[in-house]
Amino acid sequence: MYLAGISLNQDYRALVISPSTPDLERLIPLVEACNFTAMGVTSSGEAWEILEKTLPQLLVISLDLPDRGSTLIRKIIPKKPDSLIVIGLFDPTTPPEVESTMAEGYDFLLETSFSPTALRAALHSLTKCQQTSTSKTICQSETIQHQQQEMEELQDQIEQAFAMSNQTAMEAEMAFIELNMIFKAVTGGIVLIGKNMNIIRFNDGFLQLAEIDRETARTFTCSDLFPNHHCGTDNCSILKVIKGEPHVEFETEKKRKDGSIRHYNITATPYKGPGGELIGAVVYILDITERVRIKRELEQSREKYRTMSLVDELTGLFNKRHFNNTLSIEIDRADRYGMNLSLIMMDIDNFKIHNDTYGHDQGDLVLSRLGEIVAGSIRSCDTPCRYGGEEFTIILPETPGQNAETVAERVRAAMAAEPFQPNPDETVYKTLSLGIAEFQKGEKLAELLRRADQNLYKAKKSGKNRYIYE
Ligand code: GH3
Ligand code: MG
Ligand code: MG
Repeated sequence: MYLAGISLNQDYRALVISPSTPDLERLIPLVEACNFTAMGVTSSGEAWEILEKTLPQLLVISLDLPDRGSTLIRKIIPKKPDSLIVIGLFDPTTPPEVESTMAEGYDFLLETSFSPTALRAALHSLTKCQQTSTSKTICQSETIQHQQQEMEELQDQIEQAFAMSNQTAMEAEMAFIELNMIFKAVTGGIVLIGKNMNIIRFNDGFLQLAEIDRETARTFTCSDLFPNHHCGTDNCSILKVIKGEPHVEFETEKKRKDGSIRHYNITATPYKGPGGELIGAVVYILDITERVRIKRELEQSREKYRTMSLVDELTGLFNKRHFNNTLSIEIDRADRYGMNLSLIMMDIDNFKIHNDTYGHDQGDLVLSRLGEIVAGSIRSCDTPCRYGGEEFTIILPETPGQNAETVAERVRAAMAAEPFQPNPDETVYKTLSLGIAEFQKGEKLAELLRRADQNLYKAKKSGKNRYIYE
């Protein structure tokens, strides 16, 4: 390829195509003398490579090219603008057939040895003919240049926008990854429930908890998870959130496939879209089985401890420890405020025989029933106790001895009327002996007890099944 010097200040470009390099070296200065920046090539192929990228304003084609340049002309014609002038150069010794050559697409034919004046004259006449269209083309070209500039600016803006949106997309992706990690790592199940109680999204914790695989989860509904929890009714806690309640929390239980019962704490809050519209509910399910177990065990042991320390298990009455504490407090009170206080002591008559005859379990039944009789015969401020073995006491605050007699008689009569059936064909009745003592001012606990016991002893001695108050 032969290249002439290019002046960037010149607007018009020309391409000269000739198989002869010496011809090019001669022709290019001639073309440049007509204010063109000229470039020269020696083959149609090279010329086409250039023309595919950019079209000059002037094409000078030597008809000495192998096919007289006709292949190149055929390719150019479809994309030839009005502003492009195509001049064919011919050897005067072998002149071309003018009409057919011009018909191929040439605008002018010149002898290869043309003078600058001949070229200038040809260009002058040609540009005059095409003035209108040329100026239009130049104008168009300016418009195109302007549009190109605008396009470039637009492209810059688009690239900047792309860079920014890439940044935003990256940040969004990071946030998504982080959220997913939290979603996966969190203990317990998270599930997004839609307005139709359909499951929209869930984490691995949810699958473990629901004992289902990913595929099943897609067709799973809320009611499949907790079928006993008011599903579908207005009492359904999740439905309440879907209807606008800001927060619900409840506990429920579910039987697992292995038959074990698991307990769950469930928190539901509204699931809103980017515009704040309500889509459904975010439900967080936490397995609290262990917590529930520990709590229950604690409650049981606390209750057991409380019962063991104060209450007699067989009769449900207070035990001796509580009797002593309570009596001590009541004696203090009665002594300080000069109030009445009575004590009843009782003992089952001939209980040993009952035990020996019917067995210890039958004896326990009598004790247990006596506990109920005593508890049912007194006021709520009285304290019934199992003092030990088959001996019971009742502390009666603000009660004079006479009134205690009424209580003693009530208990005695109730017990005496209570039938026991140690065997299916045998009914027996058990009786009680009771001793009553009324608190004397300044008296000590042991003394009060001793006097009540003494009266009980007297009741035994005088025939049993009675109370003594002396
Ligand atoms: P008395 O009329 O003189 O009281 O005669 P008793 O047979 O009741 O005489 P005693 O007080 O000596 O007998 C008490 C019996 O109570 C002895 C024991 O077998 C029985 N006993 C004590 N505690 C329990 C208990 O927790 N369960 C049972 N089944 N029997 C008990
Ligand atoms: Mg006894
Ligand atoms: Mg007895």
